[in-house]
Amino acid sequence: MARIVMKFGGTSMAGTERIRRVAQIVRKQAAGGNEVAVVVSAMAGETDRLVNFAREAHALYDPAEYDVVVASGEQVTSGLLALTLQSLGQKARSWLGWQLPVRTIEAHAKARVDAIDSEALLASMADGTIAVIPGFQGLSADGRITTMGRGGSDTSAVAVAAAVKADRCDIYTDVDGVYTTDPRIVAKARKLKAVTYEEMLELASVGAKVLQTRSVSLAMKEGVRIQVLSSFVDDDATPADDLPGTLIVSEEEMERMVEEGKMERKLVTGIAHDKNEAKIILTRVPDKPGAVAEIFSPLAEASINVDMIIQNVGRDKGETDVTFTIPQADLARAQALLEDKREAIGYNRIITDSHVAKISVVGVGMKSHAGVASDMFRALAERGINIQAITTSEIKVSVMIDEDETELAVRVLHTAYGLDAEDAA
Ligand code: ADP
Ligand code: ASP
Ligand code: MG
Repeated sequence: MARIVMKFGGTSMAGTERIRRVAQIVRKQAAGGNEVAVVVSAMAGETDRLVNFAREAHALYDPAEYDVVVASGEQVTSGLLALTLQSLGQKARSWLGWQLPVRTIEAHAKARVDAIDSEALLASMADGTIAVIPGFQGLSADGRITTMGRGGSDTSAVAVAAAVKADRCDIYTDVDGVYTTDPRIVAKARKLKAVTYEEMLELASVGAKVLQTRSVSLAMKEGVRIQVLSSFVDDDATPADDLPGTLIVSEEEMERMVEEGKMERKLVTGIAHDKNEAKIILTRVPDKPGAVAEIFSPLAEASINVDMIIQNVGRDKGETDVTFTIPQADLARAQALLEDKREAIGYNRIITDSHVAKISVVGVGMKSHAGVASDMFRALAERGINIQAITTSEIKVSVMIDEDETELAVRVLHTAYGLDAEDAA
């Protein structure tokens, strides 16, 4: 017997027919003698619809009330799945975020899970009653409903899995695993049998939306075993227990898989893109100590995350241009803050551009091998793609390019690093 947490995303829960399919998958997992808890997302498109309602009601909405509105999508699907399971003769009940409760900390709309009371859940699971939990929602210390940021149901599922010490957390979605890049963009993307926590964390944080970044960091911290797999399967598909999807594994487990010939080690594991960043250029900033601090302090105080930064070589007049990127959603706020500080910073012009995309290549192999970045720059140059900014970490290289060239760049790099499916062993 195993204890399994199953999570179903928006497309998997989109309507009565899909929910019936989900109920069958859940029942099959439980019928194998396993203890099961299920975490569900709102129906596909529903959270966007609710976010728009909140915006229409009040452009500068109160995040606490926003949470009341957007958390409702998951309440509907959790009740519907419990009902559908019951209609199949399976004992099931829903547990809303405030009922368990899922205690969260920090801000509304981007709450973090602090702790989940697992007692009721464990009792329910032991009794053979499937617990259905709405993802994305929790309860703040002052008793109000919270949500965990877009894609947050992945994090709910991992948090539940950690709380009940599950053997595995299966994340069911609309693709059958984690691929070398978004399979909806690159037809030759290859499914990975396994990927390390560290790589998945980088891939998620640079735009591979298959898992929410926080869900991966939580799983890494708590040692939760994640499998990403598809809910769009028929009855004779390989059972989840035989691991047909992609496993997120530790570095040691990956080493073992490589040694046993189950995985091939490539320098680059995956490529991700992100069109949600914007670029800001401040021209003729005084080239003197403290100038850069004047620019970035107000942004930091406003919790605006700066990603890439370039300070050009000072011109002879003691001036320099400073270019950096921030999330597109924060552009208007950042621009207003910087315009307020124009005199204190002493820049000449502010130029903004949200028509940019960040392309990132990720792989732990980069720790020990040089040349990944230069291969990237050469491959892009050969296709005439101009690089506007560059940033690197130990296992990642990212470049900022024109948004129109996103798909081309991802495809070119996918081929350049030998990731295309036809190259597969
Ligand atoms: P869910 O609603 O199930 O949470 P998401 O839409 O959040 O699903 O995530 C699944 C999507 O992630 C896929 O449809 C795919 O387009 C996208 N995706 C981006 N990068 C990758 C990748 N490297 N591997 C698999 N899917 C990816
Ligand atoms: N429904 C929420 C969203 O669309 C949470 C989730 O599905 O993970 O962001
Ligand atoms: Mg998702």
